[in-house]
Amino acid sequence: MKVPFLELKPAYLELKDKFDAAYHRVMDSGWYLMGQELDTFEREYAAYCQTDHCAGVGSGLDALILALRAFDIGPGDEVIVPSHTFIATWLAVDQVGAVPVPVEPDPETYNIDANRIENAISPRTRAIIPVHLYGQPADMDSIMQLADQHNLVVIEDAAQAQGALYKGRKVGSLGHAAAHSFYPGKNLGGFADGGAVTTSDKAIADRVRTLRNYGSKTKYHYEEAGVNSRLDELQAAFLRVRLSHLDEWNGRRQRIAAAYGDLFNGAKSIIQPKVPNWANPVWHLYVIRVSNRDQMQTKLMESGIGTQIHYPIPTHQTRAYPQFNSVSLPIAESIAASCLSLPIGPHVEFESVIQILKKNLDLIC
Ligand SMILES: *Cc1c(COP(=O)(O)O)cnc(C)c1O
Repeated sequence: MKVPFLELKPAYLELKDKFDAAYHRVMDSGWYLMGQELDTFEREYAAYCQTDHCAGVGSGLDALILALRAFDIGPGDEVIVPSHTFIATWLAVDQVGAVPVPVEPDPETYNIDANRIENAISPRTRAIIPVHLYGQPADMDSIMQLADQHNLVVIEDAAQAQGALYKGRKVGSLGHAAAHSFYPGKNLGGFADGGAVTTSDKAIADRVRTLRNYGSKTKYHYEEAGVNSRLDELQAAFLRVRLSHLDEWNGRRQRIAAAYGDLFNGAKSIIQPKVPNWANPVWHLYVIRVSNRDQMQTKLMESGIGTQIHYPIPTHQTRAYPQFNSVSLPIAESIAASCLSLPIGPHVEFESVIQILKKNLDLIC
């Protein structure tokens, strides 16, 4: 028995007829960028996220960058980011010329600790980017309250959390704008890079639409210096297929997470991810913490279970951020040293994973 950490092809195979039909519809249309499929996907995804607008862009990183630019955040500004996240959250801030200011997470939920944010706010702070990490919503009411008090913009990084609920509301609708990624491995993944900004602020949506298309609203008339970052018609058509199955596929992830939870309940050496009562996570990743992480990863591999580490080096210690290398962020560092991601996804044969784990109880006790 072997269970790989992630396979992308089963998603294609399960809905092959629909993807193939979408492919032929776009190819036969003769229109490949900025057309009907994108318009329709944007409307469908905005409705799904409970926002008024959605603007498709080229990637999740671009969604963050263009959202920041749409709010005029740039040189001289500081943006609060989680210390524990995928590097893209920080890179977006850099790329608009602003400075990322890391705030440590709650080690139980892995998400930015709202209680630590106020200390990081300076006169230069313009925005907060909470990340709904691993598919679990961040503590948005506390974050929005702080943002109101200090007049800050909140841009959700929803790249890992499409469909997750916070107090019954969809992530992507909770801040002033939100960035989404359609990287193939994400809960709502396409078959190439892609991303989107959702917002209920029409001016922000219009600005992102202008920025993504060279800064033009009308062809060859430029409002400002934009970029080329567009979600193409094929991906939009594929994403419409995926979107219609997103809740069902997230449900499969939720059942796997529940099965892991049942199995680990007696296991003292495993720290399970904690779900606050206001969160309904979509389990992009199922991340446990163990003290003997590397040993456990090797043993699991030997018994047929593929795992990964998200992320092995905290962003501030990477070579991309020499200016942060000597900063101490002990919670992010301790998570990076102990976290282990187990297989989870709509096509993971989790009965096999559970069976293997049960046969190797020494692994988990
Ligand atoms: C994947 C991801 C991104 C970036 O998305 P891309 O589409 O790969 O550019 C940003 N933030 C987080 C938290 C992510 O997981």
